Amino acid sequence: MSSVIRLLPDHVANQIAAGEVVQRPASVVKELLENSVDAGATSIQLIIKDAGKTLIQVVDNGKGMNETDARMCFERHATSKISMAEDLFHLHTKGFRGEALASIAAIAHVELKTKTTDAELGTHVIIEGSKIISQEPTVVPVGTSFSVKNLFFNIPARRNFLKSDQVELRHVVDEFERVALAHPSIQFVFINNGSEMFHLPSSNLRQRIVNVFGTKTNEKLVPVSESTEIVTIEGFVTKPEFAKKSRGEQFFFVNDRFIKSGYLHHAVTAAFEGLLKEGTHPSYFLYLQLPPNSIDINIHPTKTEVKFEDEKALYAILRASIKHSLGQFQVARDLDFDRDPSMDIPYGMRGKEADMPTISVDSHYNPFENSSFLSGNPTQSSGNLASKAFDQGFYNPFEQADSTVGSSVSKSKGTSFGSRNFSGPSPSHSHWETLYQGISDAKNDIWSAQQFIEKEVEQESLFHSEGAEQSSSQVAFQLNKKYIISPIKSGMMLIDQRRAHQRILYEEYLNKLKNRVSASQQLLFPLSLYYSKYELELLKQVEDELIHMGFVFEGITYEKISISGIPVTITESEVSIILEDLLNELQTEFPSEKEILLDRMAKSFAQSLAVKSGAILNKEEQENIVNSLFACSEPQVSPFGKTTFILMSVEDIEKKFM
Ligand code: ADP
Ligand code: MG
Repeated sequence: MSSVIRLLPDHVANQIAAGEVVQRPASVVKELLENSVDAGATSIQLIIKDAGKTLIQVVDNGKGMNETDARMCFERHATSKISMAEDLFHLHTKGFRGEALASIAAIAHVELKTKTTDAELGTHVIIEGSKIISQEPTVVPVGTSFSVKNLFFNIPARRNFLKSDQVELRHVVDEFERVALAHPSIQFVFINNGSEMFHLPSSNLRQRIVNVFGTKTNEKLVPVSESTEIVTIEGFVTKPEFAKKSRGEQFFFVNDRFIKSGYLHHAVTAAFEGLLKEGTHPSYFLYLQLPPNSIDINIHPTKTEVKFEDEKALYAILRASIKHSLGQFQVARDLDFDRDPSMDIPYGMRGKEADMPTISVDSHYNPFENSSFLSGNPTQSSGNLASKAFDQGFYNPFEQADSTVGSSVSKSKGTSFGSRNFSGPSPSHSHWETLYQGISDAKNDIWSAQQFIEKEVEQESLFHSEGAEQSSSQVAFQLNKKYIISPIKSGMMLIDQRRAHQRILYEEYLNKLKNRVSASQQLLFPLSLYYSKYELELLKQVEDELIHMGFVFEGITYEKISISGIPVTITESEVSIILEDLLNELQTEFPSEKEILLDRMAKSFAQSLAVKSGAILNKEEQENIVNSLFACSEPQVSPFGKTTFILMSVEDIEKKFM
């Protein structure tokens, strides 16, 4: 038999490798941006069209390539970043595998323009499906520009596999943010379909985070800083009360490279233990510097996972340093949030050098001798008092600091740390289930909702009590701040207040969104809310729907949205909550079909606005829920498919007493 094994031609091998490196437009964005960073650029521009499906261009002012390198860079395993395997342990660059450009060129139309500082002319290379089409000298500034067009042009299956532009754009933005956050000193500009989405000037870390996520982010950040032999940690976590329902903004960077680590994430959440409302997640931006030889970044082709030599120690240090920062912030929370650390010092002492107090004790001094000192001579200012006491060895500078701190703690109790953020069900609720175990166990006792619907079609007859003595005030009771019990003709009904209210609101809002009939209430003063560019972009896409719901927008401008009218069914204070929840929902996936979008929006509003478990409802509210629920088209389930109520017949109850 003749030999059957052949070496694959390069372009085929490249296409196969491309499958690993390039999954979607965002992968190209990541590789190109990282190459520009590696090339020492101080300014990088990203331009995309149609979420990168039509065009991805990255222009940098880095060191550029000479004529030969401009061709060589498209070869597989062509890299300037390592030459020996050992180099892998001293990496200071993003790239090192030398396969990104080869992969990209195998599956797209790529154009490269580049010039080094010492060259007079630059070079222009066109390569399509791994084939160099042309290379010519050209006049370009120092630096490099890569344009990648028609991604996956030769792999239709891959192209068809791409998600909607919205989804792909989200991935691109994710990659962009990761690189931009890792390198605050580099200027980044991101142009999406001809309009500027990000403009990030060279800045410090805090400003970069704020520039990426919007001005409102600034007040949320708590600095974290720790330096040990194993690791140096810098960065920010967000204050517990700003924790989000979505997991959005969580970033670890190891040696300026974005990484994912479930283990380190756990360390962060452990530091927040006891501070977060259930179901919310803190944001964090944490920058770890470790000796390159103590980490291995080579275990994943897209290089977002890292192995650490001393994982346990890292966990402990990370957790402790965040805990420490949060602790400091708890104490100082009522002071200025944007303060620099020097502001932790009492005002009068700020800027002073800390001299070591020399304590001279006058052994003959008797404080009780001086009556004016004791009674607090009113002409003596407290400053004098302190300095006098200090002279005499009595003054304790920390006493004053402590009292400042003390007052801020007591003040904080009633303020922003207040009820809304920490109003979970009270601890006594935790065992309520045991009380009702009999009910859920005895399946026969409970009719299914469906049976109920079939048996008691006529809704009015439901609440019509048999005994005339039953007054209307007995129509509903609240149990455990969670359920509404309503006696019905044939027994009783247990309604989950939150789920039922979700169902009611969902149908109400869906109806409004579909039929565009809702009233608006004018606000006395327009409400200004701040969002990141990306969030504003999303809001603009649902602006029409929000208007149909009753919102009146005065303007959506840079970072800010002004609202002058809101739907009559919501209060002003609920506006920011529902919009934030809506954004969380849309960021996860933006529905491409209108129907689905309206459904998602209605669900999101229902979720944001429905009464919580744990909320006390008055009689009228209880009755409203009961009545409105049964006016719904699908009362038996919440919009999220959960049972809204269960029934117990008189017969079943009677059986319990036998
Ligand atoms: P890697 O980054 O792993 O080395 P790539 O395929 O991404 O592999 O790039 C190959 C080589 O091309 C790089 O090592 C670098 O020398 C060169 N290169 C790529 N992009 C740029 C750029 N923007 N500026 C200068 N040189 C670049
Ligand atoms: Mg690279």
